[in-house]
Amino acid sequence: MVSDSQLISLVKMLSKRIIGDDTAEKVLDVLVSRGPMTDEEIAQVSGLHINQVRRILQKLAEEGFITFTVPQTGRVGAQQMWSIDMSALRHVLHRRIREVIEKLRERLRYESELGAYFTCEKCGGHYTMDQAMEFEFRCPLCGDYLIQESTESLVKAINSVIEKLKVAEQKVARSV
Ligand SMILES: [Zn+2]
Repeated sequence: MVSDSQLISLVKMLSKRIIGDDTAEKVLDVLVSRGPMTDEEIAQVSGLHINQVRRILQKLAEEGFITFTVPQTGRVGAQQMWSIDMSALRHVLHRRIREVIEKLRERLRYESELGAYFTCEKCGGHYTMDQAMEFEFRCPLCGDYLIQESTESLVKAINSVIEKLKVAEQKVARSV
């Protein structure tokens, strides 16, 4: 089973790619150690600007990585409390891994059916058998001869990635 801290590292990695820098990691660290808390509190503790914090919270919530609740204080304008719900996070990550596996399987089917393709060594272009025949096995850009390549090694590589992801999927799923 994947531990909570392993899940958090995974979320940090994904968040870095989504936000484009390390600021999401700061927000997540604060939420892990001190949450639930308001956006203003997060800004104070993390040292990030409040607008930056709000933008990050928005994005992370869209991804389902974090959640918020509005305390039932009865007063108007009660502030949202942000937190990380580990079991919800497990579900989100599990679904993400399954989506990636599904996309890779589609790619695998495509590459397997393709069997072979043609490339131009000069331009780096890739062409199907039909296209290569249409161009009489010459690159449509530079006129160089097209070289036949097999998708076999690509298919093998995709297969091994799928196998690894299936292991990860099972580890994450075990406690969902
Ligand atoms: Zn070419």
